[in-house]
Amino acid sequence: MKNIPIYFNQNNALPDVIQQNQYINKIYQNFSNVQTQVSIESGYFILTMMPSLKCDLNCPHCYLSKEQRRSDEILSIHHLSLILKKIDDYYEKRNINQKIILVYWYGGEPTEMGFDYFEQAIELINSIFNQNKKYIVKHTILTSLIGVNHRWFDFFKKYCDGHFQTSFDGLMRGKGYLKKWQEKVIEAKSFGLSIGTISVVNHELLKLGAKDTLDYLSKLGIEEASFLPFMLNEQNSEKAYDKFAPTMNSWSQFMIEISKDYFYKKQNNQPVPEIGQLAFILSQKNKTGLANIAGQTLFLLPNGDFVLPDYKDGYKEYMRVFGNGIELSFDEVLKSSERKSYIRKQLLKNNNDDCQQCENSHYCVMEFWKENKKNDDCFGGKLYIEWLESFSYQNKDNPMIQKIIEQQKRSIIY
Ligand code: SF4
Repeated sequence: MKNIPIYFNQNNALPDVIQQNQYINKIYQNFSNVQTQVSIESGYFILTMMPSLKCDLNCPHCYLSKEQRRSDEILSIHHLSLILKKIDDYYEKRNINQKIILVYWYGGEPTEMGFDYFEQAIELINSIFNQNKKYIVKHTILTSLIGVNHRWFDFFKKYCDGHFQTSFDGLMRGKGYLKKWQEKVIEAKSFGLSIGTISVVNHELLKLGAKDTLDYLSKLGIEEASFLPFMLNEQNSEKAYDKFAPTMNSWSQFMIEISKDYFYKKQNNQPVPEIGQLAFILSQKNKTGLANIAGQTLFLLPNGDFVLPDYKDGYKEYMRVFGNGIELSFDEVLKSSERKSYIRKQLLKNNNDDCQQCENSHYCVMEFWKENKKNDDCFGGKLYIEWLESFSYQNKDNPMIQKIIEQQKRSIIY
């Protein structure tokens, strides 16, 4: 969800290859101090907006119940305004100079909320978190793309720096679905939009194979690609998880193959998307471990609850509620006993013996801490990290590879 890279070089000048990307250029100018802010409290807030959970699809990895996906409940503009003003008050009282608010529109399918609601909500956010008060705000929408038309493409240009994210899961949702999705991607590209894909690695993607997956995304002109492990949740625990979820060993192997091909394509000046997890691991290694404790992020639900994914019975995902933003002040939400206990759990790495002793713990891809599976690679993708480090070492005298790695190390992942 957050593994999208932005690139810096040592002199804060943009590398040539990136200079052509207007989207990244624009963001770059605004992010000079992002590395020093690691929590909501310090002014770096990844606000995942889920004001509606409505979606017509039935994806096997979805963390929402069918009831939630078919529900028309929506966070009203009035309540949204109330919550945003509370956040603004919070920062005002603390006299925090620069605030960076990265707004991710998830769901459900965000475009199901309708054009008018969406525009009002975004305008409201931009007006409350405005530049005069030293806010930097960036909106990113994750859409299935299936029902999206040119009006939305204009919307992405106007409000999202000409960029959007879309889910790509190979044939997991069937051939007909993939065909429609591909047509939309081609249409969006011809409209001049920049696209990031988010894939939940599943058996269908493994069948396609890492190299063919990367070839496919490269040919479509995808700029960024992120590959997440398939998580067990209350909705898919009955059937879909067993049917579609690969082991973490397979995830790591898939990432190794994708990365080998990524480096090959980069060295040969072939178009290839940036790989979120690869950039995350390399860039995170030299940063503070505090960036890896979910202290920057909250999800906002239709009823005003602030939540984050947590795990029970080992690694089964559910949404843990910290407090309701309509009823409580933002300070009360942040200081709630639920959030304190959640952050403690992140700091202690879920008390996992293997993680507490692990030297990779502050830069592995375990996004929210949970128990690891027995007899499998961990959720941090240790096998992949070890491969990446040994690949870097083996290529220490290869200037091309080292240049690519250095570029990744200076990327900012949000
Ligand atoms: S790499 Fe694996 S073992 Fe190490 S901290 Fe991350 S999840 Fe735990």
